[in-house]
Amino acid sequence: MDDRIDLAGMTLEETQSFFKGLGQQNYRAAQILRWIHQGLSVSFEPMTNLSKDLRKELTTSARIGRLSTLQTVESEDGVKKFLFGLNDGAKIESVYIPSEDHDTLCVSTQVGCAMDCKICRTGQMGLIRNLTTGEIVGQLLEARRQIPGSVITNVVLMGMGEPLANFDNTVRAIRILSNPNGPQISWRRITVSTSGLAPKIFELGQSVRVKLAVSLNAVTDEIRSMIMPVNRKYPLNELISAMKRFPLPKRDRITIEYVLIRGLNDSDSDAKMLVKILNPIRAKVNLIPFNDELSTEFRSPTPKRVAAFQDILMSKSLMAIIRKSRGRDILAACGQLASENRRDF
Ligand code: SF4
Repeated sequence: MDDRIDLAGMTLEETQSFFKGLGQQNYRAAQILRWIHQGLSVSFEPMTNLSKDLRKELTTSARIGRLSTLQTVESEDGVKKFLFGLNDGAKIESVYIPSEDHDTLCVSTQVGCAMDCKICRTGQMGLIRNLTTGEIVGQLLEARRQIPGSVITNVVLMGMGEPLANFDNTVRAIRILSNPNGPQISWRRITVSTSGLAPKIFELGQSVRVKLAVSLNAVTDEIRSMIMPVNRKYPLNELISAMKRFPLPKRDRITIEYVLIRGLNDSDSDAKMLVKILNPIRAKVNLIPFNDELSTEFRSPTPKRVAAFQDILMSKSLMAIIRKSRGRDILAACGQLASENRRDF
């Protein structure tokens, strides 16, 4: 087992204290971060602004953690899904979503997930383990290596896993991602999506600047508990009050993800109730028609119903966008991530 410290998973402050331990100045930490996250260096050798002795010392005490790219599948709409291998044989998926004015990477925070949402393939895997900070950030590094010339400006922590159930590593990863010496992703372009771990929502807002998305999916406890068992622990009233307490910067909005399921949560009265329970939260709603391939239990709504649902929200001045599911043909759309073969032991 390699017990050298993984510099790819360390914040600027942690790297500074590591270098202090080596008798080095603070500025060395910023240099290393730039080599790793901007230069995409995989070894200390090319870091010519560090002395030869320091590079040699680093080789024995530290490493630059990497994920191995086991598979890349490209969708007909340009979406790419990566299957990454981790050091212990576990596997995770990340999704690259190009668009006209920005490219987004959807990253995983856990191998599998314990939340058991019924509209998600990852939930069916159960939880294998949390990702380390280096493994979360490493997905961006590896994607940038795999797609030379890509300008990934947005990161969404929405892949496999519940980010707030791996709280410390998620927060550290956000600190690294948004550091000017790191990958330079503005906090305004980093989104954490949660299934509703209410107590952690406020803590997240206190710990780091980041955008928040909440996977809501229902307006009554009965339906929400059925789709998302986390609701039994943190029912809607707790979740809504946690959202109200989230320190939201001016002009910012919380994104509400709402998967529309035929006959279950897509009626006019559901739409009206959604408006009511979100008031006065500054929110925008992403309406995602359920993908029939995810479960035989639920059906996707008719396009007419989706449009009617959106109209009700908009008529009450609640911003609502119908999200087109991308990457469906390669199982890269929302809720479709799940590595078939979880480990090679
Ligand atoms: S939707 Fe998210 S939180 Fe729910 S099971 Fe899937 S990965 Fe986990």
